[in-house]
Parts: sequence; C-alpha cells; structure tokens
Amino acid sequence: MSRNIRIFDTTLRDGEQAPGCSMNLDEKLELAHMLEALKVDAVEAGFAVASPGDFESVRQIALRLKNTAVASLCRAVPGDVETGWEAVKGAAHPMLHVFIATSDVHMKYKLKMPPERVLELTGEMVRKARGLCGEVEFSAEDATRSDRAFLCRVLDAAAKAGASTINVPDTVGYATPTEMAQLIAYLRENMEYAHKVRFSVHCHNDLGMAVANSLSAVQAGVDQVECTLGGIGERAGNASLEEIVMALRTRGDYFGAGCGVDTRQLFPACNMVSRFIGQHIPANKPIVGANAFAHESGIHMHGVMSNRNTYEIMKPEDIGITQNTMVIGKHSGKHAIEEYVRQMGMEMDAAQLANLTEEIKRLADVKNSVDRRDVEALIAAHRQPEYEDYALQRFIVNSGTSIPATSVVQVTHHEQEMKEVSMGDGPIDAAFGAINRLTGRDFALESYRIQSATEGGDALGVVDVRIRDGERSQRGRGTSTDIIDASIRAYLDAVNRFLAKERKA
Ligand SMILES: [Zn+2]
Repeated sequence: MSRNIRIFDTTLRDGEQAPGCSMNLDEKLELAHMLEALKVDAVEAGFAVASPGDFESVRQIALRLKNTAVASLCRAVPGDVETGWEAVKGAAHPMLHVFIATSDVHMKYKLKMPPERVLELTGEMVRKARGLCGEVEFSAEDATRSDRAFLCRVLDAAAKAGASTINVPDTVGYATPTEMAQLIAYLRENMEYAHKVRFSVHCHNDLGMAVANSLSAVQAGVDQVECTLGGIGERAGNASLEEIVMALRTRGDYFGAGCGVDTRQLFPACNMVSRFIGQHIPANKPIVGANAFAHESGIHMHGVMSNRNTYEIMKPEDIGITQNTMVIGKHSGKHAIEEYVRQMGMEMDAAQLANLTEEIKRLADVKNSVDRRDVEALIAAHRQPEYEDYALQRFIVNSGTSIPATSVVQVTHHEQEMKEVSMGDGPIDAAFGAINRLTGRDFALESYRIQSATEGGDALGVVDVRIRDGERSQRGRGTSTDIIDASIRAYLDAVNRFLAKERKA
C-alpha cells in the first residue's frame, strides 16, 4: 500500500524571506493560486507578525485559497499567535504554525531561556493557538542539533496541548540521511503521543542533503514534507519541492509512498518563481533546469530516439513541458503561443495575447529562430507593475573610447513628457543617471546582471537589476534585442516597483 505524503509548501515564507527573493502582493497571490493548482496540501503564506505588508499578504491568500490549508508562522509568543490567527482566520482551512528553538545553542544564546521555560512556553502557546485554530503545527527549531530526550519532552508537550502536526526541522542543514531516519524512528518510538500526531520534516540544504534527508525521513515514516519551489530559501535554501515530488513519483516503488501534487504544474510553477524573484533556474537543476531533458551526445540522442527509456527516467510532459524545443516562426498561430503562456503558469486575456503574438512575430523578423526561451523572456517582460509611474518613450546614448558617455532618456510620467541628460562611466551608467534625474531620487545600483535568453548574436538580452534607496531595495527586469534598451527598461521597472511599494508602505 502506498502512503500519501502531505506536501507543505513554504516558498511564500521560508523562500520569500531569503535574500533577493522578495515578491510583491500581486506576485504572492498569483503564486498562491499556482500552488493550489499544483495541489499541494498546505501553503505557508508568510510570517504575519513580521510587518503590516506580511500580514496583509497572508490574510489575502487565506481568503482566496479554497482547497489548500493556509498557515502563518508564529514564534511562541502571544502576540505572534494572535496576529497569525487574525491573518488566517478567513481561510477555508486555516492553520497556525508555532515554533520555538530546542537546541542548547539556540536556547542559550538566542532565546536566553532555560530549557524548562522553553518546555513551558511550548505547552502554553500551542494551547493558545489551539484555542483559536483547529489545526496547529508545532516546530522544534534546530531539532536535529537538540538533545533527543529533551526534544521528546517538548514535542510531547506540544502534542498534548493540541498540535496535530509535529515538525522536525533540520534548520541549519546539518543532518545526514541516516541520522534523519534514526531521529524520526527515535521520536516515533519514544514520544508518548507519537501515535496521535502527524510527523513532518523541514530540511535545509547547507550540505546539499535537504532532499535526501527529507526522503530518508519519509522512509522512516513521516507523513509530511516541507519544501519550496526551486529549493529557494535561507542560505543554501530548502528541500526542492519538484525534486521530492518527482522522486516520489519516479521511485514510488522504492519509497512505498506518493503525493497528490499535479506534476504537470511543476515546470510552470518553478518558472513563475524564477520570474518573480528575478533569478534564473540553473541549467543543470534537476527536473526543471534547461538541460534536465536535453540530450547532447550522439550516443544518448540515438538511444533516446530509438527508445526514450534508454536515458530518460521521467517524461518531460509529466512535469508540464509539452514540447521541449518547439520553434515558433512568423506563421505560428495564437494557439501555440497560448500553450506556451499556459506552460509558464500565466494567464492572459485576448488583448494581451494578441499583443504578445505581434511581438513574437516582430522578433521572428529579426531573429532566425524563436524558441521557448525567447517567448518566456517576452512574456516575462509583459508583466507590468500595477502602477507604471515612468514609461520609456525613447533614449539616445553616445559612448566611445575618447568621449565621456552621455545619455538622454525621455519618459512619460502621469501623461507628461519629461526628458533628462546625464553623463556617466559608460552608456548604461549615463542612462541610469538620467533616470535618477527624472525621478529626483538618488537610487544606487546594487546589482546588474545581463544574460542572453538564447545563444547567437541576435539573441534577446534579459537584464536584471536591483536598486536601493536607504533601507529599501527593489529588483527589476528588462528584455530587448538591444542591451542598452533592456538595461533602461530593467531600471525603470525597478523604479516603478520601488515607488509602488513605497506608496503602499
Ligand atoms: Zn527553514
């Protein structure tokens, strides 16, 4: 009999809190809907008490999801539990996730609490959470470095106080697969309430073992795995959802377990995250990397052509890639493009689709072949921020080896035309200087990265920038066959998002 493993997604909490991974409210809502389409069992929507913005996004996600449980993270303090409940109480399936650290080093240096106090607080706060919410999960932070006997007492206290899920996090990515299995076996054997709770693990990837540790815990009997799309998260990240799901699917025979995730949504979901956080998926990333299903060597290609089983253990269409290398030309219809849009996890109305089709045809005029990656870059470029304060009209850049670079940038700002001139160290610096003048702000460029969407001299350039002013930073992306145009668009995208966020705050 195959056991069903619950998939608890924490992309919106553990993933989103990682450096450079922040998303705006619209993006979070879109991703939450995608997670529901993916059929994960629970979504950790955020840490409601962290800021009013976090609270609002947890609340909105809670109101929207119909089948998926929605959790807010809470420290073991009354205010966190109360705020967490206020945020999730509108959900069809609300959940509170209370945590406290149980390792000596965390209790002594971070919490500055004796173990007995941690034990007491666990019971008190889980009871409080349970008084508000029917579904409570408890996590013992840094469980894998905690004293086992003490861990048992804390987890029993949580279970006794009403926690239905007991989560065992490998917070610092320290455990090995065998140790993880032994720890789960120990807890299942030694906890008084072991038979009354659902066990869960939450593994970090510092030593590259997050997925292996999670799967080892599954074999040892856990009922739930916490993970993130693309493995994004603090430091080296969390266990990758797509890797766990496909391991369970591909090796269900070995694990004797499966899950309810709709694997055909994995590719669109991971692409959505990559687009929202402005980070490319590495080509060799298992399951969803560009090379995951590419066969270069002649021997492999020959094998795959005669029978795919020779070198493929999974089918690309099972993760939502229907055509690996579909090429779009001038005569491609809206249907083919619509299918691409769907695979990328996006929704577009008829007008947007018609626009995009036009753009693709224009690109096909200047570029020999337009493939999936070009279309992805164009679709991503299509996402406008909610408020476009500054819209690019035209620019001129002069640069060379014997003259200082100068740039004129012209934009529309609330239906008014504005232009500014600036000099700089190179054409891009000059253009960014002109934009700063237009906005009257002194944004600092924190990072700048350019990648070509495909190979070849006629490829689309995709520029990702991050700008900062004071405490706040914001990313932006621009796409064009001209790299200066792409850079200016990326900078303006970041500025527009920055200003929208500032207004909201
Ligand atoms: Zn974590």
